[in-house]
Parts: sequence; structure tokens; C-alpha cells
Amino acid sequence: MKNLQQRIIMPKVSNIYRKKWDLDQLEERFRRAVNRGCKRSGQVFVFFRADDIAIPSVGFTRLAEIFNRHQAPLCLALVPSWLNQSRFAQLLEITGESERWCWHQHGRRHRNFEPTGKKQEFGPERGVAVGQQLELGWQRLEAILGQRLEPFFTPPWNRCSQQTLDALEEQRFSAISRSRGAQPQSSACLPDLAINVDLHTRKEEDPEASLSKLLEELEESLATGCAGIMIHHRCMNGSAFAILDLLLAILQEERGLKMGTFRELVEQENKIS
Ligand SMILES: [Zn+2]
Repeated sequence: MKNLQQRIIMPKVSNIYRKKWDLDQLEERFRRAVNRGCKRSGQVFVFFRADDIAIPSVGFTRLAEIFNRHQAPLCLALVPSWLNQSRFAQLLEITGESERWCWHQHGRRHRNFEPTGKKQEFGPERGVAVGQQLELGWQRLEAILGQRLEPFFTPPWNRCSQQTLDALEEQRFSAISRSRGAQPQSSACLPDLAINVDLHTRKEEDPEASLSKLLEELEESLATGCAGIMIHHRCMNGSAFAILDLLLAILQEERGLKMGTFRELVEQENKIS
């Protein structure tokens, strides 16, 4: 029973972070992937999105420290029903106040409601009830965060129904963030600030195969001109923190690469169109 509970509560660390890598070699491989990707596109925008935020922890503290050390921006997806005033006060104490944090809305309860198929909290099974769920989530976060809350939505598991997209538009959310190519497509009024690199919920069994795939994702995403990198701090161990630290340092050194949050990305896209 204890094992079962641990499995439910403790998310799995991907195999890529279970291997002991030579950090110098790893740095070289990451640098090569970043250089190649950036060279292919010229100008690149990079954002990081951390999901499942609400509960202060050692892992969250390490994550915030790394981003603060590199002065790097981070989009933080908050789970409304897990958050309260005191938890948010503790999160803020850890992060400090800064424009570099983009606090926004994740799944209200972070639960799957689909009876079959892929997990979704905001899937077709819930019909138009998703609108009310979004609103309740927003109200709770706004009461706790006030002006810090930004009008973006990250659905759990990076997927949602058409009704959710319609409700987000109606409720004047500025953008959604799912995986690249997620369906149904959102309209031009609700840009999808898609993530295309998955750092911590990788499924590959073999660490080397997982690393190669990650480096390929990173290069390809940078080559598109906009890389969205997904973080799950609850799946991070020491090795995962070290690799994130190394990646941020490499990205910060890269010329022609700009890091920002959803806010800057939407502003930039509005300027282009
Ligand atoms: Zn999540």
C-alpha cells in the first residue's frame, strides 16, 4: 500500500536523469544543439514553462534559485485548488517579486475527467462546464494573486476541447499554451504559445536515446524561431537541476537569442502581425 501511495504522490524521474553523465561532455552536446538550432533560424525566442505550481517545496526553491541566478524568465502554471494565500506568500518569498515571473492559470483541480483515451481535465467529456471551471479557477487565483495574475491558460496534459478554446476567448484570455500541433487548433484571437521541448516527463527507457531525442527536440525547436521548454520540478532530481542550470547558461550566452515570458511573446507576435 505504501508503495502504491508513493507511486501516486511522487511523479517519476525520467531515465535520462538517472544516469551519471560527464557534465563537461554533456555541456558540449547541449551547446552544439543550441548553436545549430539558432544558426538555422537567426533570431530565436525562448520561453520556459513550469507546470503544477502551488506547493512550496525544496524542489521549487531550487528551481527558482536557478532562474534567479541566470536572471531568466519563467512562466509558472498555478493549480488553483492547490493554492491558498499562505502557500502563495511562501512561493513569493522564494521567488521574490519580478517581471520575469509570469504567474498564470493551470488546471483548476488537475484531475482527469475523460473515461477513456488520453487524460484531460478540460476535455470533451465535461462539455460546456469547462467555461465555469475556468472562471472559478481564475477567480480563486485572482483573489490570491491580484494584479500579478496574467491572462494565460495552460491545460493539464497540454490538451483541451473546442469548448475550452471558445470559453477562453469569451473570458478574454490572451493565449493558451499546449504542445506544438495540439488539436483542435485555436483561433488567431487565442494564440497557442506551444511548448516543443519536454525536459522532465520523457518516456524513453534508454538514457542515451532519451538524451539524443531531447537534443534533437531542442535543436528543431530553436530552428523554428520559437522554443517553448516545459519543466516539471516535481520530477527533478539533482542531475535534472544540474542540466537545467547548464542549459540556461548556454542559452544566455547565445547571440540572437531572446528569452521572455508569454507576455513578451504575445507582444512580439502582435508587432509582427
Ligand atoms: Zn500539470
